[in-house]
Amino acid sequence: MRGSALAFALSHDSMTIADLYSQHVLATYGRFPLVPVRGEGCRLWDDQEKCYLDFCTGIAVCSLGHCHPRVVAAIREQAGKLLHVSNLYQIPQQAQLAEEIITRHVHIPGKVFFANSGAEANDGLIKSARRFGHRRPQADGSPRFEVITFHQSFHGRTLGSMSATGQTKIQEGFDPLLPGFRYLPFNDGAALDAGIGPATAAVMLEPIQGEGGVNCATPEFLRAVAAICKKHDLLLMLDEVQTGFGRCGDAMAWRMIAPEIHPDGISWAKGMGGGVPIGAFWLNDRAIDDAGTPLSSLMGPGSHGSTYGGNPLVCAASLAVLQEIREQELATHAILMEVRIRETIRSWNLPVITEVRGHGLLLGIHLDPARIPTPEGKTAALVVVSQLMEHGLLVPPAGPHTIRLLPPLNVTVAEIDEALGILKLTLEGLGTRD
Ligand SMILES: *Cc1c(COP(=O)(O)O)cnc(C)c1O
Repeated sequence: MRGSALAFALSHDSMTIADLYSQHVLATYGRFPLVPVRGEGCRLWDDQEKCYLDFCTGIAVCSLGHCHPRVVAAIREQAGKLLHVSNLYQIPQQAQLAEEIITRHVHIPGKVFFANSGAEANDGLIKSARRFGHRRPQADGSPRFEVITFHQSFHGRTLGSMSATGQTKIQEGFDPLLPGFRYLPFNDGAALDAGIGPATAAVMLEPIQGEGGVNCATPEFLRAVAAICKKHDLLLMLDEVQTGFGRCGDAMAWRMIAPEIHPDGISWAKGMGGGVPIGAFWLNDRAIDDAGTPLSSLMGPGSHGSTYGGNPLVCAASLAVLQEIREQELATHAILMEVRIRETIRSWNLPVITEVRGHGLLLGIHLDPARIPTPEGKTAALVVVSQLMEHGLLVPPAGPHTIRLLPPLNVTVAEIDEALGILKLTLEGLGTRD
C-alpha cells in the first residue's frame, strides 16, 4: 500500500500508527516519528511522500540499498518456488551460500551454521567455545567455559549474547546473567594477558565496535589477542555481525586491521542478507589436538539447530547480495567513498567534529557535546540525528556523542556529496539555534 492510501485507511477510524504502537506493541524501542513506506537504492520515502537519503540502511543491513533489482529478483523467484523445508532436508541455496562465504569471502577452510540474527550467531559461537572447553579441559579435567569480551562491546540481546555484551545498561534488571564471561578493557593487550584464567576458553570481539561508538581495534591489539589465544589454547572469535561482507573495505573487517591473524570462529548477520533475516557463524577446520580433530567437528549432529536457519528464501537472497558485493568490488568502492568522506569533512574544519573513526563505510563522527545545545534527557548524538532527519538525511547514533554513517555499499559519489552537504548545513546551524 502506498503512503497516502495507508494514511487514509488509518485516518478512517482516526488511529495513527503511533496509537497502534502504544496500544499493542511492547515499548522496547525509542522510535523516531518516521513511517518509511517505500525505498529505492539510497532513498527512502515516508508516509507523507517526503524523501530521505538513507545513510542508516536499517542499521547496516541493506548493504545494496533498498529494493536492489538482483535481490528482488532472487527473492521473487525463490518465493514462487519454495520458501521453507526445515533442516531435516538438503537445501541447495544454503550449501551454495556456505561455499560462497568460505571460498570467496573468508578464504580459510571451515564450516558454516545458519541462524536468523546476529545474537543467535553469537550464541552459536559461545556454545562452540563451551564445547571446545570440554574437549580441551583444565589440568584437573574440569571443563573450561569462560569467554572474555570487552568493555563497550555489543553482541546482542539473547541471554547468551547479552551476557557476553560488555555494557551494564544492556544487562540491567536481567540478572542473574549467564555465567562464564569476563569483561576487559578494549585495545589493552596487557590487561588481556593478565586476565586469562584457568577456565578461560575463548576471546570474543568486534574488530570495530559498532554500537559501542565505532571504536576500532588497533593492529597491535588484534595481534596481541591472536598471540595470547595461541599461547593459552583459546579460541579467537570475531563478531563481524556489523562489520562483515564489505562494509569496512574488505570482505572481513579484521583484514583491514591485522590481515595476518587467523580467527577460529566468526559471526555474521546484518549486511549479509541485505534485509532478509539471516545470521551465521563459521568455525575453522584447524586441528585442535594431536589426533587432528577439526575444531568445526565439535559442533556435530544434534549439537545445535534452528528451524528456520538458512531456509531457501533467505539463502537465495543472501547469495544474491554476497555475489553482487563481490562482483562489483563494493568493498574497494567503500574505501574510495571513505576517503572522499574523510577529505570533505577535514576540509570543513568544523570544531563540533572532533574525530572521524572507522573503516570503509562504517564511520563514526564524534561530536563535541559542549557545542551542541541538548534538551533535558537527550544526548548530543540524538539531537543531531533528529535534525538531520528533518533535513532529509537518516543516520543512526552510536553511543551518546557519535553519529554513524552507514550508507549502502553501492552509494554513489553524488549521494555522498548530497549527504555531506546536509550534514555540514545541519552542524553549522546547531550553535545558532536558541
Ligand atoms: C547488531 C549486532 C548484533 C546483534 O544482532 P541482532 O541481529 O540484532 O541479533 C551483534 N553483534 C554486533 C556487533 C552487532 O552490531
